[in-house]
Amino acid sequence: MGRLRLTIRLLVAAVLVALGCAAPAAADSDAGQVFAPRCHAVSDSDRRVEAMIDRAAWNCTGTGWQANQPVAWLRFEAADWQGAKAPRHFFTRTSRHERITIYSLDSGGSLRGRSFAEADGRPFAAGPVFRLPLPLVTSETEALLVRIDRPHSIPLLTEAGVVRYPDDANRSLQEMMLLALVLGMLVLPLLFDITFFVVLRERFVLFHSVMVVAMMGYVLFAGGVISVIVSLPVALLAILAPLCWAVGCGAALLFLSEFLERGAMSRRMRQVTFWTGCWTMAVPGFFALQLHGTQAFDDTGYFLTIAPSAVVVSVALIHAILRGSRSAKFVAAAWFPLILTSMERLIRGLGVYAGPSSLDLMMFLATGIEVVVISLAIADRFLAIRNERDAALTEARMLEQISTRDSLTGLMNRRAIEARFDELLVQGFDTFALVDLDRFKAINDLHGHQVGDAALIACANAIRSGNDRDSIAVRLGGEEFVVLLRGENTLQRAEALRQAIPIRIAQDVPGLDLPVTASMGVIVLSQAARHNMQFAEFYARADALMYEAKASGRNRLAYERLTVFSEPPAGRRRKRDNRAA
Ligand code: GH3
Ligand code: MG
Ligand code: MG
Repeated sequence: MGRLRLTIRLLVAAVLVALGCAAPAAADSDAGQVFAPRCHAVSDSDRRVEAMIDRAAWNCTGTGWQANQPVAWLRFEAADWQGAKAPRHFFTRTSRHERITIYSLDSGGSLRGRSFAEADGRPFAAGPVFRLPLPLVTSETEALLVRIDRPHSIPLLTEAGVVRYPDDANRSLQEMMLLALVLGMLVLPLLFDITFFVVLRERFVLFHSVMVVAMMGYVLFAGGVISVIVSLPVALLAILAPLCWAVGCGAALLFLSEFLERGAMSRRMRQVTFWTGCWTMAVPGFFALQLHGTQAFDDTGYFLTIAPSAVVVSVALIHAILRGSRSAKFVAAAWFPLILTSMERLIRGLGVYAGPSSLDLMMFLATGIEVVVISLAIADRFLAIRNERDAALTEARMLEQISTRDSLTGLMNRRAIEARFDELLVQGFDTFALVDLDRFKAINDLHGHQVGDAALIACANAIRSGNDRDSIAVRLGGEEFVVLLRGENTLQRAEALRQAIPIRIAQDVPGLDLPVTASMGVIVLSQAARHNMQFAEFYARADALMYEAKASGRNRLAYERLTVFSEPPAGRRRKRDNRAA
């Protein structure tokens, strides 16, 4: 509940911040007019602006944009702002470049230029754009010629414009609200993830968190929302946006490789998905840095190397859905809009066509939808995993039960007592009474195994009847039992149990002509805890006493009292008081 309230608060705050910063300036009637370049061109770095005065040097078709050249040129025509106030600012999409030089060309052929390094660009308060002041534009000005050295992306060219007032280049209020909404949508899944991770400790939750954080970064940097909070250098903004996207896509693949149910993907498919995730973080991640040394190919390199992620995701999801994965269907529903919009962005990024940057909003919205639906998928998987774990736990308990209990009598078995023996000695169980039924084979022979089993159960019930906090009955195997006792008069209590056996068997198993008696070999220790004897040693000694009892006629108890004189382990001298009763 508290989490929900926090999320709502963050969302409201984000919307308010966006509202405050995106309020349009509307300074005069010319506000809002944005003039786009009419023509563009590319050249090597030696080409001088004088060579660009001639219109024949330009491509004015609106197609054929290239960013991978040493220099790109843009031409704005003064005819566009005839009758309106002359523009004062150049702006374009935040992207890496080395230098931008802007010239105003007057009708007489004279040129006025201003040159700016990358660091001179001022990011706008709203939108992934930065601006530069224009040289003086007069009524004589015929055109504006813009020279961009080492442009790293096509939107840097296609999304350029000149405006009278800086705010004219701002994103619309609706666009900023949408971005704020997407940011708000991303907060909730992150909180979910933290909760899931605390409970599940599954790596896919971590991968998902990385993905959500990267997507938040993407919305902040590529959407320009970050400039509302802090003014970052153009180069940093330009790097962080595609870097977040690459990391987000990579994390999505890593997430997919671990998230689906066991068996939803073949081992090979899982590996391909995982390694494509690593590749996507590393290679497109590298191109996202847009080093000037890679300028000739990093834009294309980025889009081409990130493309396999979309292919692998699609193939992996189809593969898993065909194998009947429920989680894969969730993921497919979540990622479909995103894959579609990123494909569009990819084609636009490669310069196949120059759509408006507002198309990016579709992708931001798809991102928000993605993360919310995936969170639902994680919640669903969370329940499934919990059910699986509960079932496994029940099974483990059952197995433990089976492995520590004797199935016929329900008494503890030999394995269980051996495992706990040291602990029981410390707890003061100082009397070890070995019980063996007399001439039991004859019962089986005369009455059959079923009657024999019933007699064993009756015997177990007889020795269990003393099963209070101070005695523990165990079936060692066959018709052999052990009772561990502590407290007062253990020898007498052991003898009482022994005598109870034939009575109980006679009661519970009618039709036996002779009573089924038992013999006992009993070891009584003084100060049990100070003997560091093992179970096997007790057993061997008690068995020897049992042999004595059997030899002297059965239906009796033989015991031995062991006393510690000095600290073991050295000689382990014991006083023996051995007799058959
Ligand atoms: P003694 O007085 O010397 O102990 O003679 P005994 O016949 O009891 O000794 P022996 O060890 O030769 O025989 C034990 C018999 O216990 C053999 C086997 O048929 C029987 N037995 C062992 N386990 C089971 C069981 O789970 N069910 C049944 N019905 N009989 C069992
Ligand atoms: Mg026996
Ligand atoms: Mg026997």
